[in-house]
Amino acid sequence: MKTIVLTFDDAVRSQLTIVAPVLKRFGFGATFFVCRFSDKWRAQHSEHLMGLEELRELQRQGFEIGNHTWSHPNMRELSDAENAREVDSLSEWLKSGGITEAPVFAYPGGPYADNAAPLLRQRGFLAARSTENDAWDIAHCDPMHVPATPVQGDNDETFFKAIHYADGIHPAVIIFHGVPDLVHPWVHTPPECFTKWMTFLHDHDYRVIGMVQAIHEVNG
Ligand SMILES: [Zn+2]
Repeated sequence: MKTIVLTFDDAVRSQLTIVAPVLKRFGFGATFFVCRFSDKWRAQHSEHLMGLEELRELQRQGFEIGNHTWSHPNMRELSDAENAREVDSLSEWLKSGGITEAPVFAYPGGPYADNAAPLLRQRGFLAARSTENDAWDIAHCDPMHVPATPVQGDNDETFFKAIHYADGIHPAVIIFHGVPDLVHPWVHTPPECFTKWMTFLHDHDYRVIGMVQAIHEVNG
């Protein structure tokens, strides 16, 4: 059976209102990577972003809530202390809202930040997602450098290219943002495309799960 690991970034509200009901309908799991951006930006777009209440609801529905830093910086440009603050602030905020953080991380902006990997290991994260298009060889790849493929827009080809890395042994990790995404239009996915693609996965017997579940299945 082919496995898809679904991830959704940046805590956009449509992930609760549109994405979660589609996933629940098919019995799919997923990981939602949360960040807060800057205070000013968040205040300007608050109606499109999830707060603790919405994230608690996602967790209550069985979804994994992971760390995507506090302000979504380029971690390669920050000091170790600054990166620690970025990661820990988000962890503490989730904890303050009664949310159990799933032990997985996604590098903001996508690419692997080698300077941050030791910190993430030290903080107990089991895996950190980057963006290289490839299958996820859970047993052998560097857990702090998990490949994944971003999908956005309405192009079927992008989606089918992303899922083709699932070869029956290794899962493909897919990155979505908002469905729709009104605050980050460059990573927007139309709801009708998303529903069509999830229906395809269901109809073709793909198993669709979150990152932590995928790790636990391999490690026993
Ligand atoms: Zn992001």
